[in-house]
Amino acid sequence: CGIIGFAGKRDCVKVLLSGLEALEYRGYDSAGVAVLNGKILEVRKAIGRLTNLKSELKRDPVGGSIGIGHTRWATHGEPNAINSHPHTDAKNKVAVVHNGIIENYVELKTQLMEKGITFRSQTDTEVVAQLLGYYNTGDMLQTMQKVLPMLRGSFALGVVATDAPNTLYCVRSGNPLIIGKGDDANYIASDASALLTYTRDIYVPDDFEIAVITADNITFYDKNGQPTEKQTTHIDWST
Ligand code: GLU
Repeated sequence: CGIIGFAGKRDCVKVLLSGLEALEYRGYDSAGVAVLNGKILEVRKAIGRLTNLKSELKRDPVGGSIGIGHTRWATHGEPNAINSHPHTDAKNKVAVVHNGIIENYVELKTQLMEKGITFRSQTDTEVVAQLLGYYNTGDMLQTMQKVLPMLRGSFALGVVATDAPNTLYCVRSGNPLIIGKGDDANYIASDASALLTYTRDIYVPDDFEIAVITADNITFYDKNGQPTEKQTTHIDWST
């Protein structure tokens, strides 16, 4: 699938849609966005090609300066609107986009259901959103550090949470994900082609390295929770 994310000071929806357009070759079962407008988290999804999501956003617009988007290539759960990403936790405070497979999702889902969590979709991905919601301390970096060791499989994840209305989080293990550094905004994407109109300065995170991203800052934490220094790579290829 394709993942895109934006943390800036202007509306994110145009950037998300243009990024998804560039990533549509990675999957077109369905597409969706989650946008933070202050503490309000809104999700829009549509089955099929991106044009359906665009129509849905015309019908029922969203706006905000922090957001994530996804174009899906279904592995677990049929392609339908409910199984489309982003997925949210039971309290609608956390939204997640995911590329990859959570191999132990049945086990994790069973444990959460025993704790009273009701699942909405058939996807492996929802378990990540529900775990982040269930263990949410109000600090998503801390919450991700707790939840990530529970996951088996391969993933690239983009996360937004109402407790941090100006922040976008991402992490990967085994699957592609890059972070783009702009002038007044920062980005995440499955590949650089989705960002070339915005920036050519890219960070490539290591496995399990968490990036905490705002409009002005990108901070990295290694898998032990220590802040790390990273250098950008400049992309020279022409579009
Ligand atoms: N395994 C997830 C799903 O089926 C993500 C698939 C993808 O990478 O698009 O929803």
